[in-house]
Amino acid sequence: MVDVTMTESSVQGLLGHALEEAKSSGNEVLGWLTGYRFRNEIFVMDAVQCRKYLHQSRVGAHADPMEEFRIATGYPRNAGIVGLYHSHPFRDDYHAEFRDLSDVHSIFHSHTDDETLIARGGKKNTLSVVTDGVALSCFAMEAGKVVSVEPKIINGSPEISGLKAFSASLHIQASSTFLGTELTSSIREVEQFILNLLETMLVPEKATISSNGKVSVQGLDSGSGKRGDSTVMLKPTQDGFYAELDIRISPKIFTVQEDPNEVLCSLRNELADDLAYLLWDSVDYKRLSSYLWSDVESVCIFMGKARTMKGPNDPLPRKSFIPPKRKLSLHRARR
Ligand SMILES: [Zn+2]
Repeated sequence: MVDVTMTESSVQGLLGHALEEAKSSGNEVLGWLTGYRFRNEIFVMDAVQCRKYLHQSRVGAHADPMEEFRIATGYPRNAGIVGLYHSHPFRDDYHAEFRDLSDVHSIFHSHTDDETLIARGGKKNTLSVVTDGVALSCFAMEAGKVVSVEPKIINGSPEISGLKAFSASLHIQASSTFLGTELTSSIREVEQFILNLLETMLVPEKATISSNGKVSVQGLDSGSGKRGDSTVMLKPTQDGFYAELDIRISPKIFTVQEDPNEVLCSLRNELADDLAYLLWDSVDYKRLSSYLWSDVESVCIFMGKARTMKGPNDPLPRKSFIPPKRKLSLHRARR
């Protein structure tokens, strides 16, 4: 049986969203429940409103898939979307001011709602909350069936969440010579090299986790020194090119896990996400190769940064990607 805990603020957030729209346009609303899972429990810390609908009416609404993608990628590992909510704006007394969470008269889970939940179930349990703006009911999957769950609503600050931060600051250098002019497949090789390195280094035998959540890895710690941009330097050679990577990466995760294996595994996964962003998001390799083999001696590519933060009043940590201030520096060959 899955246990569900919702913060009072997430409940008020989704009720308010549904009620406001029911009163103003009479339309259904959608949103996402964000939080985290631990063992058999799902903690809902926040309700995030859908702002961009493909269509929206009184009897149905569809979110723009890009909106969910944007929300899903805005959280680090172990935190994020744990369910969705939608409204059935079918009360006839929306102008009477009252709230009664024990009143469930119009908040059924329709056949379509069941299908949506089953389709999204996947390996992780996903919640589905239905509200009329006044009360709510919560559903989850159990042994392939949709069951009603009574959430425990807690009136507390985000600190009760028990999420603990773990972070590392790593400096990874790698270089290699490649044949041919295929930049992307070569960068992919370098990426795989770094991932393999982390797979062998970020393990309990080689990494230590201090009580404040700092993870240090022998030989890879960047220390407290200069925190420059991550860079890739490329130099064309006679039959290919030479690449030199200098990656400064500081992954951060928030988890309830205490097991060092689990913590390091999450950190490795988070690192892989950050690395993918650094290597692929801010660099246009196709364009780069068009001038790398013209009259350029070397190119230095600056990458952005991945950052994870949680303010004291944030229900959950948020992740953001910061593009570099300047993307490239070119050194042209003397003629
Ligand atoms: Zn519905």
